[in-house]
Amino acid sequence: MIPHMLTYPIPEPARGGSPTRVAAGVHWLRLALPYRLDHINVWLLEEDEGWTLVDTGLGSRASLQQWRELFRTVLRGIRIRRIVVTHYHVDHLGAAAQLAAERGLPVLMTATEYRMAGILHERTEAQTTAVRVEQFHRHGLDMSRIRAVRDAGDHYRSMVPGLPAVDTFLADGDTLRIGGRDWRVITVGGHSPEQACLYSAADGLLIAGDQLLPDINSNVSLRPELGEENPLGDYLASLDRLADLPRQTLVLPSHGVVYFGLHRRMAGIVAHRRRQHVRLLQACAEPRSAADLLRVLYRREPDAFTLGLAMGEMMAHLAYLHHRGALELVSDAPLRYRVRSGYPGWNEIADGDWFDSPSH
Ligand SMILES: [Zn+2]
Repeated sequence: MIPHMLTYPIPEPARGGSPTRVAAGVHWLRLALPYRLDHINVWLLEEDEGWTLVDTGLGSRASLQQWRELFRTVLRGIRIRRIVVTHYHVDHLGAAAQLAAERGLPVLMTATEYRMAGILHERTEAQTTAVRVEQFHRHGLDMSRIRAVRDAGDHYRSMVPGLPAVDTFLADGDTLRIGGRDWRVITVGGHSPEQACLYSAADGLLIAGDQLLPDINSNVSLRPELGEENPLGDYLASLDRLADLPRQTLVLPSHGVVYFGLHRRMAGIVAHRRRQHVRLLQACAEPRSAADLLRVLYRREPDAFTLGLAMGEMMAHLAYLHHRGALELVSDAPLRYRVRSGYPGWNEIADGDWFDSPSH
């Protein structure tokens, strides 16, 4: 099996351009983002009485301007009737409050995602940054890099300037009837705690949020201040659940292009994580902190923004390996981990208990 052999049946739309039809009544709109990851895909689900919008882009002034332009041009005459938000991250939830307020729309999202957004909204960006910096310090990051993370700051509240009133809290197993089609809500963890994917069994469509991107690995960061303990374990367990979907499912991801090859993609992700864990366990023959281990997984020194993501990821790896009993904590300041004595070896990690080979 070639892990990355995916097929891309539909040409991607331009950023800020006309929506592309993915299936009957399902349209793919691409919004610009001012990051290295320069776009997000949002989905429009056609209905008689107006369309459902899935995800909203940032809540920045430029992003709202982009929406106004779209409504004036390619979305002219289309009435949006509700908004579904997959998860609390800035590029998904960002513009929801303003769009909902301007157009009187109900917003649907899961309770946990809404709570995460609420926690980050109660704090100033400086407070959020201070909490992160403190964690990174405990995990061995040196002062000059701590300063870089602090200077880069946190931008949650600038990019999600308002929280919408949520009309309906989505939960795993719910069915949303949209445009004559039943969409089952499948909640997945790890990238965020209770991300909502939407699955149409009749048409084999999965709106996958950030859980299964075609060509980049979803960031899985540990954020203890948001109540997370083992997000990488949650992420892998969620893949296990999505492995039950049929092979011919068309995946609609939030970044990158629509693709077939769900199981191949999952196998590729699991193989990638497994390789990372083998390297980390080899490095942890001696006690190592998360900061020590950055060089084991990342060849280049990350810039300040990427450093925060990389530290969050490394903390998630360590929490996962610690939960599995592969690593033990050997010192407190900073937190250093070593392969647990008597651990049968990293081969155990390679045992395929995350999920079996796809059988669909
Ligand atoms: Zn995300």
